[in-house]
Amino acid sequence: MSEKVYYIEAADNEQDELLCEKLKKLIEAENLLEGIAERDITAVKTHFGESKKLGYVRPLYLKMLGDAIKSRGGVPFLTETSTLYKGNRSDAISHIAHAHSQGFGYDATGMPIIMSDGLFGDEECVVPIRGKAYSSVQVASLLAKCNALVVVSHFTGHLAAGFGASLKNLGMGCASRKGKMAQHSTAKPKIVKKKCTVCGTCVKWCPQEAITLQDDSALIEAGKCIGCGECLAMCRFDAVKYNWGATYEDLQKKVVEHAMGVCSLFPGKSLFINVLTRISKDCDCMGHAFEKVAPDIGILVARDPVALDAASLELVEKTAGKTLAQLAYDIPYRFQIDYAEELQFGSRDYELIRF
Ligand code: SF4
Ligand code: SF4
Repeated sequence: MSEKVYYIEAADNEQDELLCEKLKKLIEAENLLEGIAERDITAVKTHFGESKKLGYVRPLYLKMLGDAIKSRGGVPFLTETSTLYKGNRSDAISHIAHAHSQGFGYDATGMPIIMSDGLFGDEECVVPIRGKAYSSVQVASLLAKCNALVVVSHFTGHLAAGFGASLKNLGMGCASRKGKMAQHSTAKPKIVKKKCTVCGTCVKWCPQEAITLQDDSALIEAGKCIGCGECLAMCRFDAVKYNWGATYEDLQKKVVEHAMGVCSLFPGKSLFINVLTRISKDCDCMGHAFEKVAPDIGILVARDPVALDAASLELVEKTAGKTLAQLAYDIPYRFQIDYAEELQFGSRDYELIRF
């Protein structure tokens, strides 16, 4: 059976205020928050962005969603988890301070920010799943205590997953630190010595201080590396390589299985929103300069994150007139969708409903 995916079309560079108003009308007209009941504690998961200069979902959308949840009697809060790498989002205190500096304070969104994985990212619950890589996954513990979930994701390219949207936001973004480590465990880059110019750029960007410069090339200390991929994205000399054959499939499988675990906590009580504007080659975690790779497309909403990501991907490629491999990274990027359907987690078959 086809899953309904609602589509609000945007003109290129359309104002967020206009798009947000259309999203509000869609949610009301289709009663998309009907799963949220009186007093339901509702986690609204998003990504606060790495810097104001980059692509991320702007706070006004969260304000509108929070108000819509409250109007149903729900009790919403904004939530995130700590990053694996050191930086301004690696613990609850710095992450919340960063979110405020990005404009996500209570005054702007009407929702408090509560981290789902505790002060240091290590508060987790074990969720049983029927996966192939895992029989259980480690999810941020607070989510298990909530009644409903709304996930608001920014569609971007991604150097290991191919693209990041709802599945990635659920799988990686709602995992505890251990869950994230498990997903990244095989994604380790290597330096190609003969290509390395010893320029030092990767050293500057590595969040783990895992790279040192030797006489003839950079060197990665595998034990410190968390597989974040900043070095790959920043090297201008193509001197950083991943073994994608062993990596992309493994990472995407693990992301999907973690996403499935998170969704299993909210049967009939979740909604997924993908924002397809300011689409960049790299995900919103990457700290380097924003590079828009496709025209703005709009906003897609669905109850099935698999159908939503499938529809989002296909719209990006159709609108840009290029494959995602041409727009971002040349890796098998559909794997996460196909694998999710294989696990019967969701459906890649969808009906696109323009609103
Ligand atoms: S950025 Fe690339 S070329 Fe420069 S030191 Fe690092 S690996 Fe070598
Ligand atoms: S992937 Fe590269 S930038 Fe990231 S931690 Fe490993 S060495 Fe550092």
